[in-house]
Amino acid sequence: MAENIRQVLSRGEALRPQSESWQLDTELLLARVLNKPREYLFTWPEQELQLRQIEEFQQLLSRRKDGEPIAYILGKRGFWDFELEVNSSVLIPRPETEILVETAIELLSESRKTAAKIADLGTGSGAIALALAKSCSSSSVIAVDFSEDALNVAKSNASNLGISNIEFIQASWCDGLQDNDFDMIVSNPPYVAEGDAHLLEGDLLFEPSLALVATENGLGDLHTIALQCREKLKKGSWLLLEHGYDQKQAVAEMLERAGYFNIQCRKDLSGVDRLSFAQWGGSSF
Ligand code: GLN
Repeated sequence: MAENIRQVLSRGEALRPQSESWQLDTELLLARVLNKPREYLFTWPEQELQLRQIEEFQQLLSRRKDGEPIAYILGKRGFWDFELEVNSSVLIPRPETEILVETAIELLSESRKTAAKIADLGTGSGAIALALAKSCSSSSVIAVDFSEDALNVAKSNASNLGISNIEFIQASWCDGLQDNDFDMIVSNPPYVAEGDAHLLEGDLLFEPSLALVATENGLGDLHTIALQCREKLKKGSWLLLEHGYDQKQAVAEMLERAGYFNIQCRKDLSGVDRLSFAQWGGSSF
């Protein structure tokens, strides 16, 4: 006998051990198969599904059951005020990274700089770079990534969103930046320590380790960026770095040693120290 939407949704119980958001995941997967918004499922719970649709749903459900992140299965994730295309060559944008975007916009507006020159190092899906380019439309943003596959995702996102005040460069951190008069450089680099147990949990298992893992107990890339950016930033301009929950102190010390001043830290919405930012002093270099 044919199953209806309500009955098919109950198959999502199978995800319970894997996912805290198993109900939402199930709804998103079924809505994808039906090519309808999620609300449709609750408006038409008695609608019977075709066998082909049930099979397709079952395939998506088993991918999720095997741990594949919902963002990769759906190929998209919301960030800031838009939706981004994502795949397994990019880190899935996290809500905590919006703190970096908010802070960057705040600092730029305080500095009353209208046409700011901004760089985003390790742009991945382009989440930060695109949010800044969209919110500060008279600014120009350079988005850098080492991975060609990641840059292709970011470029496609820029074109889907119709954002054009952005340029893409394939390079390692500052190696791709020709100019030395940036008003702001931002980065959400890899900062998880090699061998960290979190790497074996949830979405992180499927995300590119290039985007997650750094040497020196997770501080290696943060350190390289802090040092390299000194050659690229104008005196008094800002460097913003996302980092791990326990890296505030180490990042503050490295920024200070490198010659930055006005070092500050902000917590994310879970109360975790997540973003450090500072101004380039321009003197010790
Ligand atoms: N915030 C991510 C996590 O720990 C890590 C992202 C990163 O390394 N930039 O899940």
